[in-house]
Amino acid sequence: MGLESSLLSPLEIDAPPRILVADEDTAFLLLIQKALEKSEFVVTTCTHGEEAVEAFVEIQPDLVLLGVNLPGMEGVQTCKAIRKRLDGQSVPILLIAAQGDRVPTECGDQAGATDFFTKPLDFGLFTHRARHLVNASRAFSELRYNRDSLARVQRMAKLGSFSLDVETNQAHWSDELYSILGLDSARQPPSNEVFVELIHPQDRQLVDQVVKQAVDTSKNFALEYRLLTRDGDVRHVRHHGEPVMDGRGHLVFTGVVQDTTDHVRAIDRVRQLADFDGLTGLTNRRHFESRLIDTLKHARKSQSLVAVMMIDVDRFKRINETLGHTAGDHILQVVADRLNSLVRNSDCIARKDSTDGEMEVARIGGNEFTLLLPRIVHPTDAGRVAQRIIEALPEPIELEDQSVTLHASVGISVYPIDGAESETLLRQADRAMSFAKSQGGNRFQYYTESLNETSLRRLVLESKLRDAVHDDRFHLLYQPRIDLRSGRVVGMEALLRWVEPELGFVSPDEFIPLAEEIGCISEIGRWVLGEACRQNKAWQDQGLQPVPVAVNVSSRQFSDTDLLELVTQVLKESDLDPRYLEIEITESVMVEDEVATTRTLEALRALGIRIALDDFGTGFSSLSYLRRLPLDILKVDRAFVMDLPEDDDAKGIIAAIIVMAHVLDLQVIAEGVETEEQKSFLRSIDCDEMQGYYFSEPVKPESFEALLRDTSTN
Ligand code: C2E
Ligand code: MG
Ligand code: MG
Repeated sequence: MGLESSLLSPLEIDAPPRILVADEDTAFLLLIQKALEKSEFVVTTCTHGEEAVEAFVEIQPDLVLLGVNLPGMEGVQTCKAIRKRLDGQSVPILLIAAQGDRVPTECGDQAGATDFFTKPLDFGLFTHRARHLVNASRAFSELRYNRDSLARVQRMAKLGSFSLDVETNQAHWSDELYSILGLDSARQPPSNEVFVELIHPQDRQLVDQVVKQAVDTSKNFALEYRLLTRDGDVRHVRHHGEPVMDGRGHLVFTGVVQDTTDHVRAIDRVRQLADFDGLTGLTNRRHFESRLIDTLKHARKSQSLVAVMMIDVDRFKRINETLGHTAGDHILQVVADRLNSLVRNSDCIARKDSTDGEMEVARIGGNEFTLLLPRIVHPTDAGRVAQRIIEALPEPIELEDQSVTLHASVGISVYPIDGAESETLLRQADRAMSFAKSQGGNRFQYYTESLNETSLRRLVLESKLRDAVHDDRFHLLYQPRIDLRSGRVVGMEALLRWVEPELGFVSPDEFIPLAEEIGCISEIGRWVLGEACRQNKAWQDQGLQPVPVAVNVSSRQFSDTDLLELVTQVLKESDLDPRYLEIEITESVMVEDEVATTRTLEALRALGIRIALDDFGTGFSSLSYLRRLPLDILKVDRAFVMDLPEDDDAKGIIAAIIVMAHVLDLQVIAEGVETEEQKSFLRSIDCDEMQGYYFSEPVKPESFEALLRDTSTN
């Protein structure tokens, strides 16, 4: 402030010039005063150095004239004293020596004197020079005033300016730009490279693009992006740039960079207040509803399922009343944290693809939370998440002198089963939640009754399935494959069976997809492969007719395990000749990484293992897969065999498939052959082998052994 007060504001610039004259000679003072006043100077005089300093402070003159031989503090000292002051640094100070005295130029220079005179003065000439000096000093002062106020305004607006000569790469940065960039002007010369380096790495490409375009088109640009200072601070800036030609014909980029960090943070804060719940930090109803509307829009296009869950803490009103609101608030925060971490760590549902929108939890009322599950694969996925919530919530919450255990009731609605609009879905989820509460709470409920049963069965199966792997609850049945020409058993398929102590027999069509979904298929698959190879080798060791065993391998096993390594290891452990192992895959393996899958299959074939494509005709049935996949055997699905031999279409199709497969050098096996007529027809169209109840259902190892014994002795 001190420095700035010494500068003339625009208001003072036209005031009559003030001059302070200090000299020991009162006659001189009288004369010079007269002469100067004639030229409209306002003159203040004094005879001592100390007085001169005091007068200087008071009148803030435009010009100071000091006699060299002032009594007390001499002229040179007085000059020094004025210069020491913040407001005395730019005023012109003239030293005047008496006639015959030595002019103290050297000391005067050191003290900061502007010029030197000797008496006698030519008052006319002096007045003229004094005016000139005052004008120059005022112009200088005005310039500094303007520059300082510009800097002040820039500082207030956090507005930095720059220019860059594109040809010479010479740059200039204003002080404020230095401060925005977090750099010290004394240490860092302005440089375009340094500037670019400070642009946030995620925004650099964008800035680069816009600037290049501005150069190419010679157009202005305005852009908002982030800086990352060397201290690690992120700053938001608005950048206006303008390419101009300077006098030398150089392309110069000039512009301003404004620090908008506070502004951006304020907007974030407003958004935070508008969309988030102050107590828990979760999103609020407003945000949740708009997110739900967006999600439904996407789901309509992609025809996917969306679940909405309403979660209500049981008996929360009582907790609040007995423990007080502060404890109640704390409990709600804990609930919010638990829900949040469940959602973040949720690996419990299969998503249609990993780029899907995230799940979202919101607090929409006192003790009511909602959860959005976008694009789920199966409605029961929601039940699984609900079950996790119900299990995670009761962990005791420690308050000051007691601990509280919570339970929740959860209602679930599913798009499009329960409704197409957000309001309807929220309402149905709410109704389902109320129902769950009326049943005693601590449970979840789908709005659609049938989903409750499906979901419950899946949940039970799921938990039992995980245990089944460890508890050795699986066994294999073997179904023989018959050569249609010789009628002999030429192979077998190992089929997995699960008999659960409480649930009884569970079909592989039900539990295998579930095992794939919950990620335990690889473990199960490993067991099947090991057991099938071990059994086959045992039979061969007993001297029975050696025939290959076919093992079904799920597509998930291709992505989850190193199948080649597993097969190699199993063959080694069982000491089975790879000729006696076949792997059955389905067309869905092509959904996985095609290149990697093909490579694995080729490697398996190189070991001597044969590859069969199972269920041909049910999935994609793309002929191109037959050519692309390295295959040996084609298994035609039961669906084509079923209608034989009456249905002409079925007859035509299967005959065509067989011809085509033979052209591709594939052996054909018909699945699900149940009657003599089917068998005869298949034989007539040159099908190679058959498998089905007509000859034998899948049987226990003991029965299969007997079958082999018959074959061996026949
Ligand atoms: P798949 O591989 O196509 O097996 C043939 C299925 O058809 C078996 O059903 C078999 O019992 C049944 N089947 C055989 N002949 C006839 C017949 O004449 N009529 C009728 N109606 N059905 C017949 P299963 O054992 O219930 O297995 C169903 C599916 O489960 C299998 O179809 C296979 O995809 C899968 N699966 C079975 N075991 C395993 C396994 O160890 N691993 C994997 N990943 N999948 C398996
Ligand atoms: Mg099969
Ligand atoms: Mg099949």
